[in-house]
Amino acid sequence: MSGLDDLPSLARVIANHGLAAKKSLGQNFLLDLNLTEKIARQAGDLRDCDVLEIGPGPGGLTRGLLSQGARRVLAVEKDARCLPALAEIAALSDGRLQVVQGDALDIDAASMLTPPVRIIANLPYNVGTELLVRWLDPGVWPPFWQSLTLMFQREVAERIVAQPGGKAYGRLAILSQWRTTPRIVMTLPPEAFTPAPKVHSAVVHFTRLDEPRFPADPKVLQRVVAMAFNQRRKMLRAALKGAAPDIEDRLRSVGIPPTERAEQVSLEGFCALARALEN
Ligand code: SAM
Repeated sequence: MSGLDDLPSLARVIANHGLAAKKSLGQNFLLDLNLTEKIARQAGDLRDCDVLEIGPGPGGLTRGLLSQGARRVLAVEKDARCLPALAEIAALSDGRLQVVQGDALDIDAASMLTPPVRIIANLPYNVGTELLVRWLDPGVWPPFWQSLTLMFQREVAERIVAQPGGKAYGRLAILSQWRTTPRIVMTLPPEAFTPAPKVHSAVVHFTRLDEPRFPADPKVLQRVVAMAFNQRRKMLRAALKGAAPDIEDRLRSVGIPPTERAEQVSLEGFCALARALEN
């Protein structure tokens, strides 16, 4: 990777291309190449994979992905100011880096990738959760990707891996853990970024399951989980009153006391309830 090693430091790249961070685009850049390589390593072996990176910015993580041997990197960046800096990396990438300018929420990246695909990104916080929900809830399962390795605010990462019984446990935990195994693999202090955000961050690695962990209809499961957690302080017999006239019987039929609250119910319990409501 000698060519990539000849690139200027990221601080120099930002100065050369006038990439003052824009808050509206969630721009908190990683400038330490050791750190970006470490993040790239958390995703596993990239050598036989296409990687989708959202928001490459000045290209710190992009460089890490290429130096870890990614077969190909498709990088989707909204900010046109970053394109010249990314073109400098592409020129030294032996054709492995393709940059697309646009909004990740609008682009059909799956059609531009060849499996196996890993998604790896230091996500813009303003669209991070929305992208995650789209990746976890596509029309068809299994999805086009093999794993996700994503940076979030630490509080969001804790909600993703949360277990029943606490305040962090909710819709995001259920959605994530139903179809993947998510793990927090790194935590980063605000000073790791330029400019430093107000909060700590964490990288979550999601390994996809070929089949959901427990059977359930995705729409029914989502509806019941949303109803239960929208009124999380109420007992389930009240929070789920609108789900079925005989909701107390259905809760009991799957072993959930109607007086329990949403945060006490396991993922397995919610899936059983979704099946009971479907019948
Ligand atoms: N990957 C770089 C790094 O680690 O230093 C930058 C990460 S920064 C947190 C988020 C990046 O996402 C910025 O470059 C920003 O311009 C880009 N971005 C923001 N919204 C986007 C969107 N909707 N689609 C694609 N890129 C977006």
